[in-house]
Amino acid sequence: MSQSMSIKSIVIVGGGSAGWMTAATLSKVLDLSKYSVTLIESEDIKGVSVGEATIPQITLFNRILGIDEADFIRATNATYKLGIEFKDWKRKGHAYFHPFGTFGINMEALPFHHFWLKRFNEGAGGDLCSYSIEAMAAKSGRFGKVNAQNNSPLANMSYAYHFDSTLYANFLRDFAVKRGVRHIKGKVEAVSKHPNGHINTLTLQNGHCIDGEFYIDCSGFRSLLLEKEMGATFNDWSDLLPCDSAIAIPCKSADSMLKPYTQSTAKNAGWTWRIPLQHRIGNGYVYASKFTEKEAALDDLMAQLEGEPLAEPNFLAWKTGMRPQSWIKNCLGIGLSAGFIEPLESTGLHLIQSAIARLMTLFPSNRFCQSDIDMYNRQTTKEFEQIRDFIVLHYALTERNDSEFWRYCRNISLSESLEQKVQLYKDSGRIFRIDNELFNETSWLAVMHGQGLRSEGYHPLVDRMSTSLIDERLSHIASVINKSASLLPEHAHFIAQLNVK
Ligand SMILES: Cc1cc2nc3c(=O)[nH]c(=O)nc-3n(C[C@H](O)[C@H](O)[C@H](O)COP(=O)(O)OP(=O)(O)OC[C@H]3O[C@@H](n4cnc5c(N)ncnc54)[C@H](O)[C@@H]3O)c2cc1C
Repeated sequence: MSQSMSIKSIVIVGGGSAGWMTAATLSKVLDLSKYSVTLIESEDIKGVSVGEATIPQITLFNRILGIDEADFIRATNATYKLGIEFKDWKRKGHAYFHPFGTFGINMEALPFHHFWLKRFNEGAGGDLCSYSIEAMAAKSGRFGKVNAQNNSPLANMSYAYHFDSTLYANFLRDFAVKRGVRHIKGKVEAVSKHPNGHINTLTLQNGHCIDGEFYIDCSGFRSLLLEKEMGATFNDWSDLLPCDSAIAIPCKSADSMLKPYTQSTAKNAGWTWRIPLQHRIGNGYVYASKFTEKEAALDDLMAQLEGEPLAEPNFLAWKTGMRPQSWIKNCLGIGLSAGFIEPLESTGLHLIQSAIARLMTLFPSNRFCQSDIDMYNRQTTKEFEQIRDFIVLHYALTERNDSEFWRYCRNISLSESLEQKVQLYKDSGRIFRIDNELFNETSWLAVMHGQGLRSEGYHPLVDRMSTSLIDERLSHIASVINKSASLLPEHAHFIAQLNVK
């Protein structure tokens, strides 16, 4: 690419979630009479076809595209998600809930949880989840949108979706193609480069040559352009997060209550997911191959299925980590080609969404500018590291000692910033969201407390309020939340209504 040409032609390789989320956004944001966007996907190379649980940011992504929520829910067999229930993570028989949204409301300019912590440490205060509308609605199988006054907890409920990721990719494909994205079915077999190391053209199996100025690698774990052609290095985090394999299998649902949350159950060598969609339950076992055989993992997963399997098991394997340079010259990797952190907190699709947002912020004008590229790579690395630390927290805080895998996890060394976060909470109950990181104070509190970490302190200014007033306020908040949750329709009923066109 010569330094003076303007960048008008973009080629995306890969038609999984990453490829179509990128293509859909470009088709919305760019004027396709001035830019060309081409997406190449091979029908012979299967994408991972998992990625069914999301976090609330996905609602913003869909809104930016202008997608009507009811259309989307119908097209992808989606359900609503209010958080994740973690079973057997702290110890067998124990469960906790990580809700979206916030706990309680701040009082006297102090975070709510300090008031609750004081009373919790004194043996009162009640269950943390009784202060979360998302958790209380989830527990009673309720979700809906009701007209509520601004000061009602129902006014700002935070939610995400469970959906069929293949249907979502198809939905976005139709969206993007309708808006002018060129869709080519073919397998990229060869890549030619300019003398300056920029990608020049791609040659398909049928001999056709595709040229572009900016190449976006959405080829999944293969990392066809970014790693194979541009030589991007990989930061391997397998020692911090040893799960490197998964088996996924959908089954029929035997549950009359459509749970508006994901369930994650810790197992001998990893954990299983249960994700309810409208037409089926998505199940999977994420495990560390170092600590169990594939056959044993499959047996464990099959034993958990609550209905007839609807497909053959899908076996997946990966290396946990990321490419600190996911943008090199005129090639940017988005999605699995750039890195992967296991799906415990459903961050895969979010990492795609934030990569796209970052690309839009740093979109090249008439040349590729190294300082833009460096900024992109720095921000991406930071985001991956922060998410990694949050996931590590779940494992490292376990009390489980009943398998080699859990004994390994108890000894995972924490990064310096994670160590500091844990210590700060232990000492004073303080939690800070650093550098606009993805997971907020609610998430850190839910998981630290849920996993059994106890704070020895709380904010000293809490003591300005009398214990009886704190109790009165806590009880009022819990009661309003409880009442509000009971006003919501059943989740299954709400979905059924959306399906009546
Ligand atoms: C076990 C597991 C569970 C997950 N669960 C979740 C979850 O609950 N929530 C979440 O947000 N994320 C989850 N993820 C992550 C999520 O699945 C991925 O982030 C998402 O699917 C993006 O994948 P992708 O598009 O990068 O790659 P893929 O889906 O693998 O797509 C790659 C594409 O590249 C094409 N391709 C490859 N080589 C060529 C070639 N030579 N020529 C042309 N085309 C080519 C393929 O045909 C395919 O279309 C999970 C991932 C795994 C592994």
